Amino acid sequence: MPETMLAVCKTKSDAGLEVREVPRPRPGPEDVLVYVEAASLCGTDLHIWRWDLWSQRRIKPPLTLGHEFCGTIVAVGDKVRHAAVGDYVSAESHVTCGMCYQCRTGQAHMCPSTEILGVDRDGAFAPYVVVPEKVIWQNDRAKLPPEIATLQEPFGNAVFATMNQSLSGQSVAVLGCGPIGLFTVAICKAVGAKAIFASDIHPYRINLARVMGATQVFKPTDGPADTVAQIVEANGGYGVDIVLEMSGAPAAITTAFRVVRNGGIVVLFGIPAKPVEIDVAENMIFKNLTVLALNGRRIFDTWYKTRWLLEGGVVDLRPLITKTIGFDEVNDAMEMLARGDACKIVLLPNGGKPPDIPKRARVRTPHPNITGAPVHR
Ligand SMILES: [Zn+2]
Ligand SMILES: [Zn+2]
Repeated sequence: MPETMLAVCKTKSDAGLEVREVPRPRPGPEDVLVYVEAASLCGTDLHIWRWDLWSQRRIKPPLTLGHEFCGTIVAVGDKVRHAAVGDYVSAESHVTCGMCYQCRTGQAHMCPSTEILGVDRDGAFAPYVVVPEKVIWQNDRAKLPPEIATLQEPFGNAVFATMNQSLSGQSVAVLGCGPIGLFTVAICKAVGAKAIFASDIHPYRINLARVMGATQVFKPTDGPADTVAQIVEANGGYGVDIVLEMSGAPAAITTAFRVVRNGGIVVLFGIPAKPVEIDVAENMIFKNLTVLALNGRRIFDTWYKTRWLLEGGVVDLRPLITKTIGFDEVNDAMEMLARGDACKIVLLPNGGKPPDIPKRARVRTPHPNITGAPVHR
C-alpha cells in the first residue's frame, strides 16, 4: 500500500478545491481502512467549493472532502469485530456519539455531536478513507456496482423525507429536482403515488424528472401563483395531497403551502439560505396542514429501505449519473453542478480499478444475530 496518496482537499479559507498529495490515513483500533472505488459529488461539496457562509463557519482546512462513497475494506483495527478485509461497503457519513439522548433513543440523525465525513473529518475523495466500523454498511457487489453503491447515502435522504408518510394512491408535488428531488420522484413512482407533479427551473433536471417517472413537469418561471394554478389544474382542480419541498428556494416554499390541499401534508427538506416569510394563518392553520421539517437519514432504518429499493431493482438510478471523472476534472465538475447541468457526478479515485485482495482474505464471520436466531436474555 502506498504511504501517500492524491486527495481532493480544501487547503485554504477561500473558494475552490485542490488536488494534493497527503499521507494515507491509518485506521485506529475501532476503524476500517477502505480502498475507495467510487465517491459522488454532492451539494454539500458545492457549498465547500464556493466557500459560502456555512462553510466558513464549519470547515477547518486542510480537509479532504467526500462523504458519499463505496469501496473495499483493505485493513481493520484490532478491536474491529464484524467488518473484515475484502468486504464491499459503503458508510453512513454521520459519525454520531452514541451517548446523547438522541443517540440512545434511536434518533442518532439528530445527534448534536455528529461528525460528518468530508466536513468535520477527512473524507473519501481519495484512494483510501478511514471510517469507524460502526458506520459501515455491507453491500452486495453482484447487485450494486460502485457508481450506484456510492449513491445510497444521498438516496437515503430522499427515502427518509419521502417514505415518512404513505404515498400510495396520493397526488404529490415535488418542488426542486436536484439529485434529492429526482430521487424523490423515483421513490414516489416506486411506492405507487397516483400523480407526481415535479417542478424545477433547469431544463436538464426537468427532463430527468420525466425520465424518473413524473406525471407532469413544470418550469416555475412566472412566479408561485402560476405554478400553483398549473398544478391544481393538472390535478383535476384540487390541491395535492402531499408536497415534498426539496429546493429550499423561497418561491418554492410559498408554492408548497399554496398548492397543498386543505388537510394535506407539506414536507420541508430543501434548506433555505436565509429566513423565509410564510403566512402561518392563511396557509397553515386555516388549511389544517401537517407540516414536517426533516433533516438527514434515520440511521440505519433508511439504509434498509434503500437496500430494498436499489438492490431489488425497484428504482434504477443509472439515468441520474451524468458522468464519472478522475481527479483532474473535479473543479470543472463543480462548475457543471453549480450551473444545474448535471445530476450526480461520480469520482473514481482509483481509476475504476477493483482492489487487489488475496482470495483467502475474503472471509468474514457473520454477525451472530444475522440469521434471526434467538438471543439469550
Ligand atoms: Zn451528500
Ligand atoms: Zn449523540
